[in-house]
Amino acid sequence: MKAISVLGSTGSIGTQTLEIAEEFPEQFRVVALTAGSNVSLVVEQIQRHHPEVVALANESLLPELQQQLNALPLEQQPDQLPQLLGGPDGLNVAASWDSADLVVSGIVGCAGLLPTLAAIKAGKDLALANKETLIAAAPVVLPELKRSGSRLLPADSEHSAIFQCLQGTPWAENARLSTGVPTPGLRHIQLTASGGAFRDWSAKDLEKATVADATSHPNWSMGRKITVDSATLMNKGLEVIEAHYLFGIDYDQIEIVIHPQSIIHSMIELADSSVLAQLGWPDMKLPILYCLSWPERLETPWRRLNLTEVGELTFRAPDTKKYPCMELAYAVGRAGGTMPAVLNAANEEAVAQFLEERIHFLDIPEVIEAACERHKPDLQSQPNLDEVLAADAWARQAVKEQVKRGTSRLPLPALKV
Ligand code: NAD
Ligand code: MG
Repeated sequence: MKAISVLGSTGSIGTQTLEIAEEFPEQFRVVALTAGSNVSLVVEQIQRHHPEVVALANESLLPELQQQLNALPLEQQPDQLPQLLGGPDGLNVAASWDSADLVVSGIVGCAGLLPTLAAIKAGKDLALANKETLIAAAPVVLPELKRSGSRLLPADSEHSAIFQCLQGTPWAENARLSTGVPTPGLRHIQLTASGGAFRDWSAKDLEKATVADATSHPNWSMGRKITVDSATLMNKGLEVIEAHYLFGIDYDQIEIVIHPQSIIHSMIELADSSVLAQLGWPDMKLPILYCLSWPERLETPWRRLNLTEVGELTFRAPDTKKYPCMELAYAVGRAGGTMPAVLNAANEEAVAQFLEERIHFLDIPEVIEAACERHKPDLQSQPNLDEVLAADAWARQAVKEQVKRGTSRLPLPALKV
């Protein structure tokens, strides 16, 4: 039985991981949970999964959590209450919890970096959904993985697809254990993209895009930040950088392909020009389960893929004019060092400002690009953790200041200052 910790247990990735744990009680037990501030859901999760430790990022909610647990009717009280922790230190303790074999990193944004690093330093295997951690801090994370021997299993559906395809190659041993070094024989990656909320909108129509439009995804049900990232295609840009770091492949060998049905989750081309793909319904439970069960595969009763029901699989090149975030991400990835940390943090801040209706959808790429431009003279090519964190903090501030100065060239849906 594998003991797992779930960072970000109340989110989309976290709740799906816990559903899997519940579906396979013989295979997995949950020993640690961390969450932001959703106390009532955490109480429910404690009742269902009996973790040994629970940490809340929002420390001020700990008394409320304790109170809600005490108020449970006797028959609903778990036999043993978990240790309750709070704040950044509490998150790190839960992330490196002794009895855990594998940690699911499902916090959104760079907030996941320090707990994920704590898990790596403790030598835990890692199911990484929290791509922002790798994008912002690969120069710190990759050497730390090597030092600790902790193995990184990609939970992002595209990277899981690539990882699954690589299992069938003669270099599987290398491909699954040596994050960040070139995978021999891997010639090319095609990352598929659904095209996001505005896939069928014209570039002109994007001027009318609202928060409600940008937060409804055609194929996947996910948290709000990644749903907006899918609408700008920044998510795909971030995934290009993620693939570069995970599989040690050059940016020139990573291509984005729009595939509206989201059935092929990505493809790899090998040295002999053979192309391998992994297919399935768009459901994150499959890549999460594969991280948990790897190197085994578990039998599931889940809905089986039926290609005659799907009917058509179509593909087209992405429109780089309509979606400037993609090319920006390639340029930033090639620049390397602290630049991806700036891109990531500027994007997090820009998306937050958009969700607050302080900037327009079309301002998102502009404010991010401005932050990256300003960072050029300060780029550190081999940053340490403090330098990554400083670049992250600087970029958030740079975007906030730019927004305050009022950069929007378009009428905002509802101007808030
Ligand atoms: P979400 O918003 O649904 O959940 C985020 C989780 O992180 C919640 O539990 C929240 O409480 C916690 N959290 C938020 N801020 C925090 C903070 N400052 N400190 C500690 N915890 C905090 O997000 P999600 O959609 O589950 O995405 C999580 C990660 O997985 C992201 O990095 C995303 O890019 C990646 N991912 C998600 C999906 C998906 O289908 N949802 C697919 C691929 C990759
Ligand atoms: Mg993805």
